[in-house]
Amino acid sequence: MKKVKLLKDRCDSSPFCAAKRVCPVSAIEFKKTGLFSGNVVINEEKCVGCGKCVNVCPHGALKI
Ligand code: SF4
Repeated sequence: MKKVKLLKDRCDSSPFCAAKRVCPVSAIEFKKTGLFSGNVVINEEKCVGCGKCVNVCPHGALKI
């Protein structure tokens, strides 16, 4: 099955990630690394490769 890949150099690591909000299976998670910092991560176990996130990321940080 296809999975999405996060291009870390393009991701702005926002806790308000638009792609996170559209994922139907909650495969995009925000892992806090500090009080005001963190990283967007893909849970590959959950991702079903639907591609919805690819179209909404304003930075083109997601690829199937
Ligand atoms: S491809 Fe679909 S299931 Fe996978 S992370 Fe993106 S929105 Fe979620």
